[in-house]
Amino acid sequence: MQQYDYILVGQGISGTMLSWFLQKAGQRVLVYDDARPATASRIASGIINPVSGRKFELAWLYETIYPIAAQTYREMETALGITCFQERDIWNVWPSAQMRDAFTVAVKKSPVLEATPLMMQQEAPRHTDTLFQPFGAGIVKGANVRLNALLPAWRERLHLREERFNADEMVFTGEGVRYRDVNAKAVIFCEGVESPANPYFGKLKFLPNKGEALIIRAALHTDNIIKKGITLVPLDSDLYWAGATFSWDYADAAPTAEKRAVIEEDLRQLLKISYTTEAHLSAIRPSGPDRRPLVGMHPRFPQAGIFNGMGSKGCSLAPWAAQQFVRYLLEGATLPAEIDIKRYFNALR
Ligand SMILES: Cc1cc2nc3c(=O)[nH]c(=O)nc-3n(C[C@H](O)[C@H](O)[C@H](O)COP(=O)(O)OP(=O)(O)OC[C@H]3O[C@@H](n4cnc5c(N)ncnc54)[C@H](O)[C@@H]3O)c2cc1C
Repeated sequence: MQQYDYILVGQGISGTMLSWFLQKAGQRVLVYDDARPATASRIASGIINPVSGRKFELAWLYETIYPIAAQTYREMETALGITCFQERDIWNVWPSAQMRDAFTVAVKKSPVLEATPLMMQQEAPRHTDTLFQPFGAGIVKGANVRLNALLPAWRERLHLREERFNADEMVFTGEGVRYRDVNAKAVIFCEGVESPANPYFGKLKFLPNKGEALIIRAALHTDNIIKKGITLVPLDSDLYWAGATFSWDYADAAPTAEKRAVIEEDLRQLLKISYTTEAHLSAIRPSGPDRRPLVGMHPRFPQAGIFNGMGSKGCSLAPWAAQQFVRYLLEGATLPAEIDIKRYFNALR
């Protein structure tokens, strides 16, 4: 038998962050991941946007979670010898005079993080040759995480079995849990949208939603993230990620002609220059009903845990939520009530 402290199921951004913090705390971790290609973490562009909505409200707990996320990604870059985290201006192109005016109001009370206001008016025009901007634009200080650099690099360092984990084969022992040839203290499921099929956590209500994006080639020559309806995120040289759509009602996870047309129409209204489409991506975002992470151990089977529900904000939420979970598991700290699955215990009993 092999002995580990924790078995994690899934290596999206959730399993990546939880395994990082557990290993940092000296725990022996074994990860199972079945490497399916079109998962949320494998197709997301990893934007971290501090504000949302028509009033540019600050994201939930942003002042707490962003510094932890930035520090974690920087530490992982150093440990893995990769570049995956970049702070970037989000160049918001206004669709109307009303949005421009709402931004002007928001800028006056813009929160300041590490001495930088998160929202500011443009000092000089940008992208005048490439973008239609009849109502102008404003700057939001954001970032993005290159998950397609981070996840494979961390995977190389993990004890990882590239296979499907079958939760029905788990056996609870006095001290922990046995799975085939492995003993561990607990198994923690970081399965993303597979959660409803899980025998322990399948009863937790889930509100997954599907997102689609295009990879386009266009001579925009910018490091900015550009946002107007859709968001354009710089990849390599002239490649940009363009997305994403949201649908709560969908037949399956495959890309659709309908949503491709929606993105193409947004691009037509935004770009003065031509582009070519290199790929069409789609995946399902794992969201809980209250759009907060789902974190904790099962009330009846305390050797089974869940780390999920990152919704559309996995890159900003997962580092902080993983840090909280590891403190709970190893130091007996209390989980923040908003992410603790205790709020749904009635469904699990
Ligand atoms: C189009 C789109 C755009 C997005 N853009 C952003 C963005 O800009 N910024 C942002 O922060 N978030 C974004 N998101 C959301 C983000 O992708 C998710 O919050 C995040 O990826 C969820 O990560 P996860 O690890 O919880 O789940 P997943 O990414 O789904 O990972 C789960 C992993 O578990 C594995 N797995 C599941 N069950 C098993 C099993 N039984 N055995 C073995 N392996 C298993 C899967 O193969 C997978 O690798 C976007 C999502 C989509 C779809």
